[in-house]
Amino acid sequence: MTEEKESQLAPQSTIRPVPLHEELEEGRKRCGVCEYRCTVEPGREGVCKIRINRDGQLLTVNYGVVSRADLELIEARGFVHFFPSAKIFSVGGYGQNFPSVSGQNIFDELPSGQALRSLPLERLARFPIDQHCRGVLFTYNEPSMWFEYLLDAAKTIKANGMFTAMATNGYMTTEALEMVGHYMDGVRVEVNAFTERTFMILTGQTQFQKVLESATRAQKRFKAHVEISSKLVPGVNDSPDELRRLIGWIRLALGENTPWHISCALPDSDDILWNAKILGEHLGLHYIYARELKTPRPVSEQGSEVTFDTTSDGNTYCYKCHELIIKRTGDVGNETRIIALEGSKCGRCHTELNIHNTIWKL
Ligand code: SF4
Repeated sequence: MTEEKESQLAPQSTIRPVPLHEELEEGRKRCGVCEYRCTVEPGREGVCKIRINRDGQLLTVNYGVVSRADLELIEARGFVHFFPSAKIFSVGGYGQNFPSVSGQNIFDELPSGQALRSLPLERLARFPIDQHCRGVLFTYNEPSMWFEYLLDAAKTIKANGMFTAMATNGYMTTEALEMVGHYMDGVRVEVNAFTERTFMILTGQTQFQKVLESATRAQKRFKAHVEISSKLVPGVNDSPDELRRLIGWIRLALGENTPWHISCALPDSDDILWNAKILGEHLGLHYIYARELKTPRPVSEQGSEVTFDTTSDGNTYCYKCHELIIKRTGDVGNETRIIALEGSKCGRCHTELNIHNTIWKL
């Protein structure tokens, strides 16, 4: 299996040693990149199918191998309080450690032969500058599956004056985050479970706290801007009790101005999204974005304590004085205008809104 995989790969430069691992007996290696911490026997591969043990050496086979790359506005990838309206270069590789919550994952397996495209570091550093991008976002597949490249790439991008960001499931190990965290300006973490049971149903794993720790560590230790996203699966993770715990954690651990993005694994689920959004507002979150919502706020909620929608139509309003701060139009905010922002604060009443527009870590 692994020899076949290696033979698909040309040039050899896509194969690199995995520095984060422990030596075990008889040539076995324990990978330390994500919390699966796979024990990989000689001739075998880890759960992600990207890290292999060749003759007692742990190797990654996807260094610089790109699955997808796009030039777009950062709003298209679901960051809303981080460099609003910035043009970015979004890139992703291959390999996943979690199953997809909403179906088939197209970034699971490396392609073979001609279909294989690689992005050398020099080109990754030059291309976004030539295209007038302000930063590079690692997304599409789980960025830690690309860890060795991610680390080198993030250093290179920062050295060239651009910002870096990643959209992650938060399951990389503390050791991995310690290495890459210094070079990350923005982190969006997908938190879909707040109990062991739910996490087991969605991922086959139990340690949901590791995901939470990654988000808090990114914010507290590395001063990265953090946004949280959750995909709601009806009957699995949308109970009021689980949502209450998740919302309470966002508010207390990360702050009430942390953007929370909610979506649903099923189409036409406005009732589920409105329930979660209204619950979040009542429990003190100021910015809950639900891009898929098509219907107006339920009538029963109009006239209740929290009636002003700070994210109405995907825009951002000051939660305190209700001034329009960022205006977004188009499905993915493809026309974004900053209206009243002063640093990270409301341009009218100067309330702190947690909107980051600088590469200097606060
Ligand atoms: S990255 Fe994660 S899934 Fe892949 S081999 Fe390492 S521990 Fe296993």
